[in-house]
Amino acid sequence: MSTIAWIGLGHMGLPMTAHLIAAGHTVRGVDLNPDAAAAAAAHGVTVVGSIAQALVDADACVTSLPMPAHVRAVYDGPDGIWAHARPGTLLLDTSTVDVDTSRWCHDRSDAAGFAFVDAPISGGTAGAEAHTLTFMLGGRAEDLGRVKALVEPMAGTVIACGEATAGIAAKLVNNMMLFIGVMAVAEGSQLAEQLGLDQQVFWKVVSASSGSSWPQRTWYPVPGVVATSAADRNFDATFSVDLARKDCALALQAGEGVGVHLPAAALALSQLDLLVQEGLGHKDCTLVTRFATPDGTLRGYHPSQ
Ligand code: NAD
Repeated sequence: MSTIAWIGLGHMGLPMTAHLIAAGHTVRGVDLNPDAAAAAAAHGVTVVGSIAQALVDADACVTSLPMPAHVRAVYDGPDGIWAHARPGTLLLDTSTVDVDTSRWCHDRSDAAGFAFVDAPISGGTAGAEAHTLTFMLGGRAEDLGRVKALVEPMAGTVIACGEATAGIAAKLVNNMMLFIGVMAVAEGSQLAEQLGLDQQVFWKVVSASSGSSWPQRTWYPVPGVVATSAADRNFDATFSVDLARKDCALALQAGEGVGVHLPAAALALSQLDLLVQEGLGHKDCTLVTRFATPDGTLRGYHPSQ
């Protein structure tokens, strides 16, 4: 069994560390938010006050942080991971970051004698709780083997995507496709509504037809059709506008870097931006459905609640 340092015990880090502990590993965790740290301690994480303390005797270190800037800050500097990890420690970042940040983590880890693997995840908080996450790995083949064994208690699927940054590249492309798909479902659901279709019947039609997609099957934004939809919970986030906005922006940034035109992704980002400007960044990303309705109101969404 291993000792694992874990930095970032939020929505994803909390359930993921619980699975590692259930599998018999020791997890030494850090989080700036006392509530997150307390919840992790209740699951059996040994909560410590610094990255240096988390890394004492650690075989591996996992980061699960909100933004690229957090990842850079946690790795670099006199209090960071590179300054305190034992040589040879396996480092993996499960955060969704830009390709350049991931490349920087690989290059600096290589130079300092650490094995770094980009290991972003898909499946949301439900996947983290049910240990059915998909891990997309990028790095050296020998390091990917070590990571596969480590993440197994948290994963439903582990895919070795290729060399350094291949995991994060796959993640960004996947999520860009997801949020373009959300727009299709948003518009389709509201056209069906205004054409007077029974939404449950229409959902069955699409599920068995060529308009089907993961967001259609899982996040259909009309109340009373799919139990996993935010429309049944006043569009409280299963995947927040803020996180969706971050992922779309990072995909567009990657597209600019390689000269690929992404007009649909730009439209998805502009709709998410509008929700953020309205102070709705904490709500579910499927709230973009509001932009398709005739008067901006949306069945299942009550702004005052
Ligand atoms: P979160 O904001 O709930 O958790 C991040 C935690 O990191 C917070 O508790 C925060 O206090 C902590 N933190 C920030 N800076 C820190 C520092 N310097 N030291 C220690 N702790 C620090 O975010 P999340 O939803 O758990 O997501 C984590 C990452 O996983 C993000 O990059 C996100 O894009 C990605 N992701 C999230 C989901 C999802 O559905 N939530 C799905 C797939 C991927």
